[in-house]
Amino acid sequence: MEIDDLARMLAKLEGKSYSLYRRLRNATIIYRDFKLKLTKIQGDPHAEPSIVEVLIPNSSHRFSSKFFEEKNITPFTDYISRSLHSICKKHSERCGSGNSCYIGIPKPGPWILRRSSVEVGENKSLILRFYVGLPARGRRVLGGEAVNIFRKKIPSIVKGIILLGEKDYEIMDHIVNYLDQEYLRSWIKSKGYMFFVGNGSILPRESSISQKPLKNAVKFLSPKTLSVKVKLPSNRVIEGLAISKGVLIITGGGYHGKTTLLKAIQEGIYDHIRGDGRELVVSSEKTVTVKAEDGRIIHHVNISSFIRKLPSGELTVDFSNLNASGSTSMAASIIEALEAGVELILFDEDTSATNLLYKDEAMAKIISEEPIVPLVNQLRSTVKKTCAGIVGVISASSIPLYVADCIILMEKYVPYDITEYVKKNLCSKRLATLDFKLPQPRVFAGIREFRKAKARGFKITITYSNGEKFELNIKDNPRIVEKGQVKTIAYVINYLCKRQIKKSVPELVEYINNVLSKGFTTLAKPVPPDLTIVNGLDVIWVLNRVLNAVFLLA
Ligand code: ADP
Ligand code: MG
Repeated sequence: MEIDDLARMLAKLEGKSYSLYRRLRNATIIYRDFKLKLTKIQGDPHAEPSIVEVLIPNSSHRFSSKFFEEKNITPFTDYISRSLHSICKKHSERCGSGNSCYIGIPKPGPWILRRSSVEVGENKSLILRFYVGLPARGRRVLGGEAVNIFRKKIPSIVKGIILLGEKDYEIMDHIVNYLDQEYLRSWIKSKGYMFFVGNGSILPRESSISQKPLKNAVKFLSPKTLSVKVKLPSNRVIEGLAISKGVLIITGGGYHGKTTLLKAIQEGIYDHIRGDGRELVVSSEKTVTVKAEDGRIIHHVNISSFIRKLPSGELTVDFSNLNASGSTSMAASIIEALEAGVELILFDEDTSATNLLYKDEAMAKIISEEPIVPLVNQLRSTVKKTCAGIVGVISASSIPLYVADCIILMEKYVPYDITEYVKKNLCSKRLATLDFKLPQPRVFAGIREFRKAKARGFKITITYSNGEKFELNIKDNPRIVEKGQVKTIAYVINYLCKRQIKKSVPELVEYINNVLSKGFTTLAKPVPPDLTIVNGLDVIWVLNRVLNAVFLLA
């Protein structure tokens, strides 16, 4: 329909019951430069707002066609998403009750990611999705306000987006920054490095609840011995720390920046916007931090490499638990990560089960009944037998230094290469290394009695057919940075369970990544405006911890 038809319809609804808005469901409104579809109509003014999808054809915008090339789509749509967020914010208001007159999408964080708020459509068209709170007072329609939204505000928002076509240079700069980081990530892989941290990077954040860089932070400076130079596609030559695949131990006094460095390496799976401070920190997208997660669920994981027989006599080649201990939970997380094909495993003493990490000689003598085979004794063999490198933060024991390929000392936020010094003077002998055995990957075969998965904030709730619910906090996974990723995981779980997908874990990772690479339309109907891309690894991370998930031993 035309906007005039819609205006007439809305005027008639003035003062009537909110439920009459339902008539607009799937209505398409034709504007001069674009088309708008109301893909979801909220049930009441306090519910999650309605969703509109705007299609801007190629003929209506002046974005350079190079932005639509496959390699540029992520940074291009990321740029538009950021603008869409701020333009909507200017037009969003409070009126009437609940979410009335709200217009918007969640604010994108400093990560350059694909989001459902902006996608590229056919023939270089642009698809925008955002929430619109259809206005009401109580449960009575505010028709006049609604007309104002559709006649004035939305065209003005779309115009704001179209005008970005004049900011070619700024968009190109955003793309160049992204392509440099993508290049850097493939470069470290081709050179066999685990990660790269560029000199001048700012790693610490303002606070634990802010992603802004810490002001007056000590800038990162790589020790000369571990420093490499690389020329980026933008022609910039940069220098920084690169560590070859192996075992890296980061040590140092408390409060000297160890955890901050490790977190930055974990964040290196994503590309960052300019000004973030971590634009030159990259790691493989398959980097996972493992930690002790007291109380987590474990489904049929072979943890026998780390934990032999339990006191109960329970065998650990097929270990399941609804309330795992620190050491068993961490052991399971390591096996699960390797099973899914991760390329870099990170751990921090702060959040580890230290009894799983190492054991000193005297303790080994005292504790004769010990089911745990420490990780440290198997690190070398793990690196050799899998495609994963390992970075650990350790400062309470020297045992891990014996097996390290490289040792970095953090002092006042400055890294020093102390490998040679330690190996020559302190830890020259070899530690007995044990053989690590990587178990066969398990097969995921759905969730028993599954009804649905739903995300709220950083939590996912699984509802079972008997109405019971299970809740999981995804904040524990440091790979997850935006709430939109949690929502995407919930959608993927629904997708997998509805189709009864049954696959081995590594195949499932690939399958999910393939589904997600096709955009969000395959995943959700209607597509909400607040989905952010995830990796298949993150879906597996959740499934591994979900009650009633079925994993079969191969
Ligand atoms: P550690 O793990 O060694 O105990 P953290 O990494 O937790 O230390 O850092 C301790 C504090 O120092 C944190 O508040 C962090 O924000 C701050 N910090 C980390 N790196 C820097 C830096 N480069 N410059 C200034 N402050 C920093
Ligand atoms: Mg720490």
